[in-house]
Amino acid sequence: MDIVSGNVGWIEVVCGPMFSGKSEELIRRLRRAKIARKRVQVFKPSIDNRYSDSDIVSHSAQRMGSESVSGAKDILAKLDWRTQVVGVDESNFFGPDLVDVAQQLADTGKQVIIAGLDTDYMGRAFQPMPELLALAESITKILAICMRCGNPAKHTQRLVESEDLIVVGAAGMYEARCRRCFEPGISKQEYFPFAQPKAVSEAT
Ligand code: ADP
Ligand code: ZN
Repeated sequence: MDIVSGNVGWIEVVCGPMFSGKSEELIRRLRRAKIARKRVQVFKPSIDNRYSDSDIVSHSAQRMGSESVSGAKDILAKLDWRTQVVGVDESNFFGPDLVDVAQQLADTGKQVIIAGLDTDYMGRAFQPMPELLALAESITKILAICMRCGNPAKHTQRLVESEDLIVVGAAGMYEARCRRCFEPGISKQEYFPFAQPKAVSEAT
């Protein structure tokens, strides 16, 4: 997104629940930066090796080569200072350190694009997203589709038993839910089909 012309740095944030398309959007923006012949580096947390150790991968199997880092400070250590665009996926795995790192990168002229969850499995704001949203030049919130009712979904529903804030997992362990269908914590996992067949039978 070209929100600023010239070589001034800035922070763009893409947030939303799991399955909302954050990684797809991050990949789309980074691809465009590469088309514009900008120097791009992409970072992902090494703890997140669900699909690949080296690539960021979306649930729709789009992928892009990236570097794994163990923490936010590692991004600075691995940065080639000629890089113009820095992409970071899964901000919630980095914690509060990511805020300073993002600011430092933007202050030194980099375009920083960060994707991550804005709420956790309890529906609470998920660090460091609140602070990143406040500091960013551009913010985009995207929604998924609720797996119970088909409405737009802002929540990440945990389906497995755990009270840990971070449990790395994808389909089967989490699903997207709307405000009405979300059960903070762990879902009871009954099967609720989408509402359309009921609406049809009521109409007849
Ligand atoms: P995120 O990074 O936000 O977890 P991804 O970019 O990895 O999301 O994946 C988004 C893709 O996931 C969608 O384009 C769609 O193909 C697929 N998908 C699976 N479940 C859902 C859902 N409940 N709502 C929307 N998209 C879904
Ligand atoms: Zn719903």
